[in-house]
Amino acid sequence: MVSVQSSVLGFPRMGSDRQLKKAVEGFWKGTISGPQLTSITNQLKIDHWLLMKNLGIDVVPVGDFSMYDHILDLALMFNIIPTRFADEFSDKLDKISQSRSGESVYDQLDVYFAMARGIKSSARKNGDSTSSRNKAGEVADGIPSLEMKKWFDTNYHSMVPEISKSTQFKLLNNNILKDIKLAKQNGIESRPTITGPITLIHYCKVEEGNGSESINKWDFYKDLISVYVEFILELESNGVEWVTLEEPVLSLDLNESVKETFKSAYRLLEKELAEARRNGDSSNRKINIILANYFGAYENNLNLVIDLPFDGFHFDLVLGVDDLDSENLIKLSGKTVSLGLIDGRNIWKANTRGLYDFYLSNVSARFRNYGVKDIQISSSCPLLYVPFSTSPEKEHLDEEVYNKLSFAVEKVQEISLLKKAINDYETIGKTDAGLFDNGVAVLNRNHRKGISTDDPSEAIGNSGIKASPYRESEFKVRNEVQRKLLNLPLLPTTTIGSFPQTEQVRIQRQKFRKSQITSQEYDEFIKSKTKECIKWQHDIGLDVLVHGEFERTDMVEFFGNYLTGFTTTKNGWVQSYGSRCVKPPIIYGDVKRKSPMTVEIAKFAQDYANELAGNGNGKPVKGMLTGPVTIIQWSFVRNDIPIGRTAMQIALAIREEVCDLEANGIAVIQVDEPAIREGLPLRKKDQIEYKKWSVTSFKVATAGVKDSTQIHTHMCYSDFNEILEMIIDMDADVLTIENSKSNLKLIKESHESSANAYNAEIGPGVYDVHSPLIPSVSEMRNRIVELLKVYKNQNLWINPDCGLKTRNEAEVDASLKNMVAIARELRQSI
Ligand code: GLN
Ligand code: ZN
Repeated sequence: MVSVQSSVLGFPRMGSDRQLKKAVEGFWKGTISGPQLTSITNQLKIDHWLLMKNLGIDVVPVGDFSMYDHILDLALMFNIIPTRFADEFSDKLDKISQSRSGESVYDQLDVYFAMARGIKSSARKNGDSTSSRNKAGEVADGIPSLEMKKWFDTNYHSMVPEISKSTQFKLLNNNILKDIKLAKQNGIESRPTITGPITLIHYCKVEEGNGSESINKWDFYKDLISVYVEFILELESNGVEWVTLEEPVLSLDLNESVKETFKSAYRLLEKELAEARRNGDSSNRKINIILANYFGAYENNLNLVIDLPFDGFHFDLVLGVDDLDSENLIKLSGKTVSLGLIDGRNIWKANTRGLYDFYLSNVSARFRNYGVKDIQISSSCPLLYVPFSTSPEKEHLDEEVYNKLSFAVEKVQEISLLKKAINDYETIGKTDAGLFDNGVAVLNRNHRKGISTDDPSEAIGNSGIKASPYRESEFKVRNEVQRKLLNLPLLPTTTIGSFPQTEQVRIQRQKFRKSQITSQEYDEFIKSKTKECIKWQHDIGLDVLVHGEFERTDMVEFFGNYLTGFTTTKNGWVQSYGSRCVKPPIIYGDVKRKSPMTVEIAKFAQDYANELAGNGNGKPVKGMLTGPVTIIQWSFVRNDIPIGRTAMQIALAIREEVCDLEANGIAVIQVDEPAIREGLPLRKKDQIEYKKWSVTSFKVATAGVKDSTQIHTHMCYSDFNEILEMIIDMDADVLTIENSKSNLKLIKESHESSANAYNAEIGPGVYDVHSPLIPSVSEMRNRIVELLKVYKNQNLWINPDCGLKTRNEAEVDASLKNMVAIARELRQSI
């Protein structure tokens, strides 16, 4: 009989009360010392291990924890340190590599956090790292941090290690072994888990400006394999019996050369391990390696890995259930399989009864026939993507919603319960039915994949509004009407929406929340800020104004407050990157607009702009909304209906708002979709459905207006070409798009290939809002002159590349003045 165990691939790092965030930020500020930070994080790890163990998990993971990011951990561990840091920290790094035993652990912290956050020039040499960096890792001066990159299709961001000719791969630390020992001291038998070499290289880039541009990062796999071998052998010689290598790249469409590298790398790993064992002390039991893929099915990649020397395989049976039908499974004889049945990506209770039945009817006999040795019941992926526990929400949320939720702790319980039920069945032939009494009746495993988009007309029919996804006329016709009506100059200037959320704004919001000021007082404050903002833009001379978004904390939560079926948790934090966490709203029911959301403030701002103009005919103020795709992307969504249907419900709510804005005299309306690119599924074949529902929902949201109303959209993504087709289909009148890492070539090519050109108006950001530097007139001039070589004068807008809420007022004032000045200058000459 096959024995069934329970395991978890990884646990959230932050702690029940974001202890990790507080400790790490305290360390950066200097209020917490290195030893204190280490002891706090050790305690967190121990707490989490014990929690899992006490809830009945047999295989407790170590190595999933990180003080900042697991990819950054590997960069340091394997000495993948960019030259700029290797130079800066040469002494410390020498010390670290000489003493692997422990004295240099605090030196490691300095190097580690410097790579994470960069070093300000003023702080150099004393090792202080700084937070004055942007998402892309730039610091105004000093040493820039590593870049960040979205971790697959999650909302987590990992760091991007840099490989160069001078990278010397070696095992600089083995913090994972330390954790195994720490677990053992606390009575816990653990299993190490580590991101595998191919996924690691996938997330690396070639270091710039170091004469290394011509190298190919994949060529370094051999060096990397040698350090993995060293690492694995250290575990083995310490009696560790199993190690998990996580290779979620296997859920991607890999090109042939990466596939080849994958194969060669693992063959090499096998060979080097065998050689080392032959040459060394072979008294230790050979360590077993389990390969873990998640975030989807292996699909064809199973052909690639099934014959490689792994002792076990993990399957994501939430997003990758198709793998169960693979003919390759026959090769699992004698192996261990880990079945990811509990969803690590969403927050709904599992239908444990359904999973149990599914296991017994579909899984168990099959694997037994294949001759599988051991089975583990596990999470589909690490639980890093869900909040810690639902318990703080009990008093906070509606009972109906609360009863449906399962965060990390509860998911661990679900795994345990399933395992117990299965083992009961296998040993005594029955299971206590009461075990499954959690009130969840529907088995929904495929909520993000295979999303059959319902015909939009269905959702439209349900809501009773006539909602065509098509505008009255095509762009050319609308454009002419809008030009006459708006009467904007050439190269019109605008901003993306938010203005600085200053200390003052935050204080007033806090006071309002704590009921220290009345809602009327708060409203008045927001209106006075809005007025100030309109006057400011008017004086600077911008052409299309914004109200400034002072009333919003966040571009999704704000709208959630006005929609049915939305709620927010009290403590549902999820790590976004480093110490940063987000608290995604939860969409639990049918979405409808409860009341107008932005009409009052938009109209107020427009009225004031009209008043300033004297003649009642002020500059247009853009209405500002978040689009359905972004709302979905940054929330936890239902899994009992297709995601496309939720998108359509949100689209209809936004459409009502768009139409109300129009009816209230707002002639320009922006529907932001910054997250539209990041929602793109990992596999090409899944992208088709996504493109359909995302584009349709945007169109349904925006198509209800007359030709004369100008629809803008905004995206924070510079690789224009990848989603070009979608952008064209969205049929907005104006697109403002991030362009700070300017890839003009792509834009140019796409614009020139007349077959599928983007022909509407466009505002590629002329400066990077993430940098505190004030963009100079000449810098922006160069950029615009380049853009003018591609775009017709009439089509180009001049704007920053994203919202201004994180900048201070002085920076914004100076930058926008320069921006308007250059637009005015260039208007004369074209
Ligand atoms: N309108 C939003 C703002 O200006 C857009 C933010 C975004 O693109 N992420 O803040
Ligand atoms: Zn943006």
